[in-house]
Amino acid sequence: MAAAEEGQLVGLFIQLEVDAAVADEAALAAKLEEVCPVDIFAADGDGGTLRIVEENLDECVLCELCLDAAPDGAVAVKKLYDGTELRRSLSAGADSSRSDTRENKGEESSAS
Ligand code: SF4
Repeated sequence: MAAAEEGQLVGLFIQLEVDAAVADEAALAAKLEEVCPVDIFAADGDGGTLRIVEENLDECVLCELCLDAAPDGAVAVKKLYDGTELRRSLSAGADSSRSDTRENKGEESSAS
């Protein structure tokens, strides 16, 4: 199982995943900083890049404004308490803006 990778920060209830290309773009970082009502994003990294304010992660109100502000699929808000996540679909025109990604803890039966 993959542990937290770069670009992912984990709160107690919320985990945020931001595409590295987005995090490195100052204009997008500033936009994310502006839209989030609970200041989870800060555009004060190196050269105006994105910094996730880890102590605010669990304040997320699931408003999806960050998903609207970033390119589709670039930001994901993972709800650790129920195993689902908010993420814009990458396929244009798709209706589902959220996907259920419950993790299977490997209960496969290896019968042979
Ligand atoms: S869903 Fe809303 S509160 Fe949560 S990180 Fe995105 S903008 Fe901030």
